[in-house]
Amino acid sequence: MTTPPTTIAEKLHALREQIPSHVTLVAVSKTKPVEMLAEALGAGQCDLGENRVQELVTKAEHFETSEVRWHHIGHLQTNKVKQIVPYAHLIHAVDSMRLLEEIDKRSAVVGKVSDVLIQVHIAQEAQKHGFQTDELESAFNAIAKAPFQHVRVRGLMGMATFTDDASQVGREFRVLRQAFDRWNPNDWDTCSMGMSGDWTIAIDEGSTLVRIGSAIFGSR
Ligand SMILES: *Cc1c(COP(=O)(O)O)cnc(C)c1O
Repeated sequence: MTTPPTTIAEKLHALREQIPSHVTLVAVSKTKPVEMLAEALGAGQCDLGENRVQELVTKAEHFETSEVRWHHIGHLQTNKVKQIVPYAHLIHAVDSMRLLEEIDKRSAVVGKVSDVLIQVHIAQEAQKHGFQTDELESAFNAIAKAPFQHVRVRGLMGMATFTDDASQVGREFRVLRQAFDRWNPNDWDTCSMGMSGDWTIAIDEGSTLVRIGSAIFGSR
C-alpha cells in the first residue's frame, strides 16, 4: 500500500509526476514561513509565487539567491511597482495600462526588462481583476503603439470562478486559452491558469503554467 504524500518534498514530487513537462509549476508560498520555502527549494522547486509585495521582498532578501524565480501573482498596486521590479521574475497580473506604464518606467530606472502577463477577467465574480476579453484588442493596440522598452508581455493569466462546477471552470479556462491563441504575436510562451482546486482542468484546456499553493504547503 502506498501512503499519500505528506511532506512538502513528497507533495512536490507527486505533483511533478502528474504535470506534463511543458507546464511550469509555480509553488505559491504566500503567508508561509521561510522554513517551508526552504524545504521546497531543497526539493528543487525554484519557481515561487507571492501575492504581497512586502512579503515577497522580505523573503527574497532572506534567501539572497538568484536561484529563486519570484513570481508576483496577485493584484499589484501601482505604488508598489517600484519595490517589486528588482525582484520579480514574472509579474502575473497586469490589469491596466497605467500599471504596465509604471512597470516600464520603474524597470528602466533599474536597467531591467520585466516580463509580465496580462490578466484577463474570465470568472463570473465581480471582485476578480483583469481586462475583459472585449477590451483586449484596444489594450494590445495601445501596447503595440507605446513600444515599451522595459516590459515584455509573455502571455496571459486568469482565474476561474471558485465553484465545484467543473464544466464552468473548463469553459472559463477555454476562453483564456482562446484569447491567448488569438492575440499571441508569436513570441508568447505563458498561459498562466490553474490553482490547487482546478489545475488538472486548466492543463486539459491548455495551461502552460499552474500556480499551486495549498496543495503543496497546506491550507492558509
Ligand atoms: C493564492 C493564489 C494561488 C494559489 O491558490 P491555491 O488554491 O492555494 O493553490 C494561485 N493564484 C493566485 C493569483 C493566488 O492569489
